[in-house]
Amino acid sequence: MSELNLILLGPPGAGKGTQADRLSDDFGLPHISTGDILRAQVAEGTALGEQAKSFMSAGKLVPDELIVGMITERLGEGDARDGFLLDGFPRNEQQADALASALAGLDRRLTAALLIDVPDDELVRRLAGRRVCVKNASHIYHVEFDPPKHEGVCDQDGARLIQRDDDKEETIRRRLEVYHSQTEPLIDHYDRAGMLRRFDGRRSADEVHVHIRATVATLRLEEEL
Ligand SMILES: [Zn+2]
Repeated sequence: MSELNLILLGPPGAGKGTQADRLSDDFGLPHISTGDILRAQVAEGTALGEQAKSFMSAGKLVPDELIVGMITERLGEGDARDGFLLDGFPRNEQQADALASALAGLDRRLTAALLIDVPDDELVRRLAGRRVCVKNASHIYHVEFDPPKHEGVCDQDGARLIQRDDDKEETIRRRLEVYHSQTEPLIDHYDRAGMLRRFDGRRSADEVHVHIRATVATLRLEEEL
């Protein structure tokens, strides 16, 4: 039985969520976001969720073993039998090893790591240009790609547009530094294992999608051989 067990890597602002949703539709794979799993388990009050909550309320990071436990449980569900698209985990080499062992325990292995690569300056341009309406946070603009008719004013309700703290250049640069220091060793790790597939995230979302889809289709053929 062929499986498509995929992880999606890329910096914040690379469009991972969009691509994950599209690939999930293309190949019938569940999009497993670790943030979503964590929130769901906490909300449902499962044993793992309760443990995670105690770390979070103490202001601590949820340990890798707990996250891996949740992912392992999620992968055991019926819709993930033929594969999955994991987003948000692993973020470093230790987590990658933990995931590999968990998969081995299920008699499965990772098929590939898909990396959407975007240079820092381009990410800053994308993220720092965002402006959000003070009245309704779903009214989102971009100074360059999707500007409002009047600068600083929401087209829909005339409210003021602001740049959120998360979208400030220095915040973005700091997040990117963290991303690079943690994720570059991870990228090398998958590259050495021959599992890395790189995509040029400077292209449009449609183009990136076409490229990833073609690669995943090829991976599936190879798995079936
Ligand atoms: Zn508005």
